[in-house]
Amino acid sequence: MKAVLYKDIQFVEMSHIKKPIITNSEALIKVKYAGICGTDLHIFDGLHPRVRPPLVMGHEISGIIDELNIVRNDIKIGDRVIIDPLISCGHCLPCREGSPNLCPNLKLVGIDQNGGFEEYVKIKDDKLYKIPNSLPLDLATLVEPIAVAVHAVRKSKLLVGDKVVIMGGGPIGQLVAQICRINGASSIVLSEIQPERLNFAKKMALITVSSKEETIKKIMEITKGEGADIVYEAVGIQATYNYITELVKVGGKIITIGAANKPIALDMWKVYFGELNLMGTHVYTPKDIEIGVELLNDYPKVFRPFISKVIGLKDLQAELKGLVDGTSKAMKVLVKL
Ligand SMILES: [Zn+2]
Ligand SMILES: [Zn+2]
Repeated sequence: MKAVLYKDIQFVEMSHIKKPIITNSEALIKVKYAGICGTDLHIFDGLHPRVRPPLVMGHEISGIIDELNIVRNDIKIGDRVIIDPLISCGHCLPCREGSPNLCPNLKLVGIDQNGGFEEYVKIKDDKLYKIPNSLPLDLATLVEPIAVAVHAVRKSKLLVGDKVVIMGGGPIGQLVAQICRINGASSIVLSEIQPERLNFAKKMALITVSSKEETIKKIMEITKGEGADIVYEAVGIQATYNYITELVKVGGKIITIGAANKPIALDMWKVYFGELNLMGTHVYTPKDIEIGVELLNDYPKVFRPFISKVIGLKDLQAELKGLVDGTSKAMKVLVKL
């Protein structure tokens, strides 16, 4: 079968590899669409510590069940599915406590086993989610990033009428903004510096700001000087944490979503004196995936604009290069198989 293999730094190649053979509790999925994620770009750039080439990347996958070797009787060959790409151990404390997303041995389809940039992908049957007939397979690949946003917003316990700020207008930040809107946030400010992402946010009817001064000014104007109920940080860099405590109200919440790759300084005096609630969020649980599927099905018009482009497997090298170089400014690129 056809597969695009990651072979070296900034180099993937269309190849022919053996179709996977499934064993107990596994399914073979005929991939229809696979989304390109920031994680794939990280791998492509040679920055992912666990990746050993050759590897088929891609963990945002939708497709059709082609073969099954399972005991579960609620899915069958021909079903339209998306996958949960997280692989947790099932035995550790967080796994036993119902938070598989916090498993210290967490693995991912497209990193620790071959992913979706190939014709057929092998998946454990408990990672399959049937999708409604009304949900198109291209849109369905968005469920994985949506689940990240759903997880963050649910953990933040957003209330109807809350005024929120989102730091960062990448796909996750923009999805958090839309999930906040669906859940009744009343003023949604998105802070971002890239013009293309700001334009996207504007088109999605968000209040956009692009500097520290502008962000503080806007949220203070909206909240009459009191500060946001919740600030979501979807970048993971020092620059946003430098003033994040100035955006949030006394007793408000700071929700971290962006992955920081080094320690970050925060004005802990403000956290202490204002009883700010600082909370980490990491990927998603199976429940967040289920909710993601429902939201996608209920609000297709909200999520359709996130798909900027659909390419073929053969275009993957050029597209990945463009995305890491910044010459391609897409929100979400899907690979159609
Ligand atoms: Zn992803
Ligand atoms: Zn575990």
